[in-house]
Amino acid sequence: MESKLPHVDTTIFTVMSRLANEHKAINLAQGFPDFCCSEELVSLVNHYMQCGHNQYAPMPGIMPLRERIAEKVYELYKASYSPETEITVTCGATEACYAAITALVRPGDEVIIFEPAFDCYAPVIELNGGKPVYIELKYPEFKIDWEEVQKKITASTKLIIINSPHNPTGSVLDFSDIKKLNAIVKDTDILIMSDEVYEHIIFDNIPHASILNFPELRERSLVIFSFGKTFHTTGWRMGYCLAPAKLSREFQKIHQYITFSTPTPMQYAVADFLKQKHHYQDLPQFYQQKRDKFISLLKNSRFELIPSAGTYFQLVSYKNITDEHDTDLAIRLTREKKIASIPVSVFYKNKRDDKLLRFCFAKEDQTLEKAAEILCRI
Ligand code: GLN
Repeated sequence: MESKLPHVDTTIFTVMSRLANEHKAINLAQGFPDFCCSEELVSLVNHYMQCGHNQYAPMPGIMPLRERIAEKVYELYKASYSPETEITVTCGATEACYAAITALVRPGDEVIIFEPAFDCYAPVIELNGGKPVYIELKYPEFKIDWEEVQKKITASTKLIIINSPHNPTGSVLDFSDIKKLNAIVKDTDILIMSDEVYEHIIFDNIPHASILNFPELRERSLVIFSFGKTFHTTGWRMGYCLAPAKLSREFQKIHQYITFSTPTPMQYAVADFLKQKHHYQDLPQFYQQKRDKFISLLKNSRFELIPSAGTYFQLVSYKNITDEHDTDLAIRLTREKKIASIPVSVFYKNKRDDKLLRFCFAKEDQTLEKAAEILCRI
């Protein structure tokens, strides 16, 4: 049988986590915390299971959760979204990305994405017959060149996908970036998908510049968030998508046939937990400490650190250590040195190799110390 995605292999996150387990390596590859989520949150899920919330949730999500989400985004971004028609709870942000792209992209449509790009966008564009149009973020700052974006726009441009804070680079967009995006799409029919799953993992008191801050852009945008990142529960697969009613309707037509709905007890638990705002308000500080600890532990290593303004990822350059291909090096370090990372070339269509590895610092201090000990010996 001919593959529908001949050039797509098993995702790097699965490959590297598997390899890390096989070689008993410290896994700083796939992005997930190695510490526990809140016990209270676990008890809430337990409670809602015990009291019988074990059947299908409504397709768009349970109403109390949609209401809490609406309150949260109003408070943070002054953005009004109707819980009835404009909010959909999904099985992780990955499902939301799949549903958003599938709802919008038709054969021949062009979709602008920025590389290095998280790996779940391009394959879905292609499955829908669309054409990814790649624009590179320039190393080492990984900023968007908006003039280049303007030049790449054609009559077939359907969608622009942005992602801030940005995985894998840790760069962030600021308000002037979003204004430039607005100027480019104004007077066009171009839609935006904004992947903002790291909205609360942003450092040095920089405010998160969200599409939600811009009423004009909200009209043409699907904005995607994640509870997994915010509450240290990546395995629960909980995300959500905000979009105006017309776009949400199309989004839900796809969502209902991918997963139908998202696990019910988790939704009730998260709805309750969201009332305690400090859980997300404290997150920048919490992860900034992790970032700073990891940076200071690596100070005397031979790796060069690329500043991380957000996400729980740190890029390091190894160009002064070896000229091995990044994928070979990531595999070798896992096998021989027992430390797993993600090679950045996998996030480029042409596998551009800038000699960069991505490390996840969402780990116990002890894990970071052990990892740094190894890295400082390389
Ligand atoms: N977002 C996580 C990362 O970048 C992993 C997501 C996944 O494994 N699908 O590491």
